[in-house]
Formats: sequence, structure tokens, C-alpha cells
Amino acid sequence: MRRKNHPAILTVWLILGVFLAAPLGFAGFGATPAKEAVIVINSGYRLVIDSEKGTIASLRSTFGPDHDLLIQGHARLPLFKIEFMNDHAEFKTVTSSQAKEVTVKRSRDAEGETITIEFEEIGGLPVDAHVTVRCPSRQPLTYWTMELNNRTSMWIGHIQFPVVEVPFDNSENHNHSHILSSFGDGTETAPVDPTLETAAWGGRLSDTPELWRFNNYPGQWVSTQLMAYYNDAGGLYVACDDPKGLPKFLAPVPESEGVLMGLGHYPGTRGPGESKLGYNVVLGTFQGDWYAAAEIYRDWASKQPFCATKMGQRTDIPKWIADSPPAISFPMRGQGDWDPPAAENPEYTPLTNALPYLDKWASALESPLLPIIFNWEHGGPWVQPDAYPPVGGEAAFREFMVKAKARGWHPMIYGDGLCWVTSQKNTHYDGMPYFREHDGENAVCRKWDGTFLEDVWPWRTNYVTCVGTEKGRQMLLNMTRGMAELGPDVVQQFDQGPGPRACYATNHGHPPVPGPWMAEAFDGLIKADVATARAVNPTVAMSCEGAPPETHLQNFQIWDSRFHLTPLYSYLYHEYANGFLGFYTNRVNDEALRLSVARALVNGYFINFTLRDKGRVEYDWDQTWDRAVPDQAAFIDWTKRITHFRAGVARDYLVYGRMLRPWKVSGVTERDFGWGKEPLVQSATWKAQDGRVGVVLLNYADLPETPRVELEGAGSKALVIHNGDQKKEKELELPGVLDIVMEPRSIYLIEVR
Ligand SMILES: [Zn+2]
Repeated sequence: MRRKNHPAILTVWLILGVFLAAPLGFAGFGATPAKEAVIVINSGYRLVIDSEKGTIASLRSTFGPDHDLLIQGHARLPLFKIEFMNDHAEFKTVTSSQAKEVTVKRSRDAEGETITIEFEEIGGLPVDAHVTVRCPSRQPLTYWTMELNNRTSMWIGHIQFPVVEVPFDNSENHNHSHILSSFGDGTETAPVDPTLETAAWGGRLSDTPELWRFNNYPGQWVSTQLMAYYNDAGGLYVACDDPKGLPKFLAPVPESEGVLMGLGHYPGTRGPGESKLGYNVVLGTFQGDWYAAAEIYRDWASKQPFCATKMGQRTDIPKWIADSPPAISFPMRGQGDWDPPAAENPEYTPLTNALPYLDKWASALESPLLPIIFNWEHGGPWVQPDAYPPVGGEAAFREFMVKAKARGWHPMIYGDGLCWVTSQKNTHYDGMPYFREHDGENAVCRKWDGTFLEDVWPWRTNYVTCVGTEKGRQMLLNMTRGMAELGPDVVQQFDQGPGPRACYATNHGHPPVPGPWMAEAFDGLIKADVATARAVNPTVAMSCEGAPPETHLQNFQIWDSRFHLTPLYSYLYHEYANGFLGFYTNRVNDEALRLSVARALVNGYFINFTLRDKGRVEYDWDQTWDRAVPDQAAFIDWTKRITHFRAGVARDYLVYGRMLRPWKVSGVTERDFGWGKEPLVQSATWKAQDGRVGVVLLNYADLPETPRVELEGAGSKALVIHNGDQKKEKELELPGVLDIVMEPRSIYLIEVR
């Protein structure tokens, strides 16, 4: 479970950065190019390459008003930066601007134009780079890749390529821009200014050398390889087309004049020898909002192996997931993650005590449940691997599982991903003796200085397990086996995102820098993890925290969403697997609680909530129980109707469907519950696998609303309008509008057949 507090390790990296930052030379500043620039123009963009420096001088969108997407004077930024590491873990950064010789050439064939750029003897080192930019004439996209001839004996730590910086909005450029990134289930931020939040959990990234030494994709909260920058005049599309999901750093990073669309690569090789990127960075232009960029990306992604099988055809996904059982979490001890003294809650400990409370919920909701057992670990909440026997005893735990499953429920427990927890403040757990006795040292990632990679939370500390070590693999697989043996239907081992963390150890048998070895090791680990759990229970579903990295989509059957307001992941991948949503959704009062349920539903998730004392629903997980108690009856009524709606009339859309760019819904009141203004009627547009289109509308407010829905398409169409259990049919000439009078707390589906 990701907590709001940032690991203190980030702070450590930032401080180190002050001492370790190598000066980034910008040779050749300010010189007027003597050679004519290379310009490629097609229907979507105008790209200018500075022939003197081999850098990107300009990239303009030619959709609508002609408009530069990059900062002024962009040619002075290097095209790439390379950080090398020697055998003494000393780093050296060179940039394309420090090449002794730069040669830019262009060629043309039937497909379009290709620019090649040669950089020789970069930064005084025997290192040459060969960059290729393919510019197909029929697409608004360009494809960038590079090869390095590294004749030093140094390792390549990372490569930033290409360096692309977009401007801040200001009064001069009249831009009102947005940046899309793939943190969690998708994030859109605006305005683009120095206060732009760019870190996964709020806050800002800082462009230090250390930032780039750790991948954030796959699984460190970045779920896809897409980013975008856009405003009314056009958009910049930034993506990688790597179907293998190799480690990368992909994030917007604020600079002094604008925002770097940060692209870090980890070839994991040393010299002397040649290295290739192995995929393209795709830069291009588009017109519209983030859906337009996501549409381009979806076109590519849907043809990749990780999109081979849709949910309806996946034999690994248990059928009960389509029945949308509400996911109900409750803590066996403590009230959240962080509150001491983590006393046992008699309602839920021993675990069989939870059954009468859950029986009441199942009967009130008229639905099977997905009970989520929190804070069950022996050593304290989230303590792994010293987790067994579970709180309240193993016998009661197993008895609960048997009885829950006999009721048609699907209980779930959590592990702690790659974390080897060494202390837990709430229970005064000291994990160091266990760590030493179990040879933990041989499982842990090292930083370049040889120290352990550690996450430091205010209430716990953990070392990070290296996926390239046998000891690390064993720790994780043993934890999963133990969980599966307790008898749940769902195991979430990959808490805090599924993905490998960088390791610089020199004695783990992998290269001492991040690289493709991490993807290969993680792929093996995740497959072994599924096999381990399924050896105990062949139908167990595997879950993870946050949207699964796209390339692991087919390795997870369900997930625990970390959603904010941008349904990027649903738009790209919903038809392949479903997640549930509810944790950390800013439930500050009853209306916001119903909003979180409505948001989940329209965006394709099933719902999740948390119990407090006496089996009552609380507003949010990880809050102590001194808050007001929500209106239980009202919540039950709303949740019951929504669950039946999703599993019933809306199933073809919200379970198995593909999300469409939303048809316009206007005339709705907006209110701010803390995440900015949101409409009181939540809505989305979906396409069933058979081609029918459905618009889902939920008025979660206490007052009526009258949304106007603009139905797209052409010709006379039969509409079926579902209002709760009632159904009306109607003919309408499309395109057309439909005004709907929505009672408070009502649920509509408009089907276009
Ligand atoms: Zn390692």
C-alpha cells in the first residue's frame, strides 16, 4: 500500500545530487549555424534540425494555428546526454553538444524522409553516436533511435534521448497547456508552469543526476510509455514503441524555462562495444486533448503481444470478476497503516470475527463480496517476509477463508512487493535480527556506493529486493506461497507497483547498472509468482497496486487502482482486464463518497471501500476512526444499485467494453471536493464488443440534474434508455441531443443500437 508520505530516500538522493552533479557542458553556445538547417514538413508538423549541432531547433504543430511546441532556442539543448560509470562507481556525463564532429544527412524514399546524425568523439571520449530519425510522409509521427559505439571500458549508466523541452505557459505565448503522463492509472496536469506537479504522488521532480539512475517504468507507478503536451493550438506526442517493456525513466521534469519531457534509457552495456536502443522514441503532433494522443498510442498498443487476448476470451480470469463483487477492506489491527499502537480490532481478530459483519454487508448489498484483509502480518502492518503466522492465528484465518468461499465470496490478502521490511513503528517491530538470520543481505539492491537501497517511511523502513538475486526471488515467492496456502481467492503480492528496481551491485551476477536484465529477471519472477500461487490454488487471481505495467497486462487478472481524474489506463486497456477503485479517492463527506463510487463505475472499475469499527463503512482507507461516520443506509443503497447495474445491464460496456472519447455532456453543475471542480453527473461513453455504444450517467448529488447528451453518429437509431430497473425505447435521428431529467442519486444508461 502506497502511503502519502514520500520515502525519505528521495530526499537523500536530492542532497547527494548537490555533490555528485557533473557539469553538463553546452559547447558551441550561441554560435550562428553556418550550415543550413534540415527541415522536414508534412501535414502535421514542421521539424527543424540544427545541422551544426545535430539538435532539435524546432518542432511545430501545423494543425490549426502554426505553433512551436518547444521552448525558444531549443537548438542549444543537446540532442542527448549519456552518463557513464567506471569500475569505481564514478560517473561522467557527456552530451551531444560536446561532440568533436557532427554530420547531419537526409535521404528520401517512397515512405518519406530519414535524417541521420553522426556524433564523433563525444566529450573527448572515444564514443560515437549514430542517430536515425524516420519521418514517414503519411503520419504526423517521427521515429527516433540511436546506436552508440562506446570504445571506452565504461558502463553506460543511462541515456537521455531525445532531450525535448516544452515551454511554460505565460502571458506572451497565451498557452493554456496540459501535460499527460502515465503515473498510476493516468495523470493530467495543468497549467504548465514551475509549480507543475510531476512526481507520482504529488510534489515535483528535480533534474539531478540521481533522478535518472532509477527507472520508474515499468511498475514504479508508470504504467505506459505515453506522455503528451497540448493546448488549443496543437499537441506534442511523446512515446516509446517498446513491446518488451524494458526499464525506462518517463516523466515530465521541470527546468528553468519549461518542462523536460523526460526520456531515460538503460542499455545496461559496457565498452568497448556497440549498443542499440532497440526501439524508437516516437515524437509527433496531434490536435485535441489527451484522448487524441491516447488514440494514437492505442493504435500501436492494441497490435502488441501484451494485448493478445481480451478479458472475455482470457481463460485465466475467473468468471466471478465480471460479477463485480464490492471489494471491502478492513484492518485486523490499527486503523490505518501508520497509527500506533496497532492494537487488534476485536471486530476482525481473530479473522472469523469478521464474518457476521460481512454477512450483513452481503445481505444488504445482495451481492457476493471481495473481502480484503489488511494488517494481518505477524510483525506488524505490511511487515514482509516475517509475516507468519498471521494475526489471530492460522486456524482462524483458514476457517475464515473456507467459510467466506462457501458463501460465494472471494477473499484477498496482500503482500509487500519487493520490500524486505526491517522496522515497524506501530508494533515496535525490529526486523534486523530476522534479516541477518535469513541472509537478507544477499537479496537487497545496492546503490552505486555499495549501500543498501532503502525506503524510509515515517512508520516503517524496508530494504528493496533485487529481482536479479536468487535470495530476493526466494523471499518473494515464499511470501506468495504462504499467502496462497492461507486460502484466499486473490493474492496481491506486487504492492507498490509491479516492476524491478535498479540495482548497482557488482556481485549479483547482473550488470552493475540498470538494463534489460531487469526486465528479463522481473518477467521470470512474475511468472514464477503466478505459478507458485496457482500451484496451491489453480484459480487464484493475481492483483497488483496501481495499473499493471502494460507489458504485464496478461499476467494480472485484477488490480487495485490508483486513479485520480484521468482515465488513461481505462481508455487504453480496459477491455483486457478490470480493476477495482476506491482507496485514496478523497472521500471527505457523503457526497464525495458517492462521487468516488460513481467515478469508479463510469470509468470501468468495480468499487472498493473500507470498514471501521463495528463493521461500518468509513470514508477512506488510512484515516483514523475519529472522523464522522458516513450515512450507512444511503451508502448501501447507492452501492447496491451501482453494483447490480455494472454486473447487469451495463456489463457489456463497463466490464467487457472499450472506452471511447466521451460524447459531450453539458448543463451539469460542478463542485469542488478538493480535486478541483468535478461534474455532479459523472459520465463516460463505451463501446461493447459487438459495436453497440452506451453512455453511462450517474447523478450522485442530492439535487436533480438535467444533463444534455450529444449523441454522435448518423441516421435513424433505436435508443434504449435504462433508468435503474426501468427501460424505455426511442427512435432518434443522429447526430442528435437528448435532455435527461435525472433524479438525485440516479443511474442511467443510454444504449445506441
Ligand atoms: Zn542486484
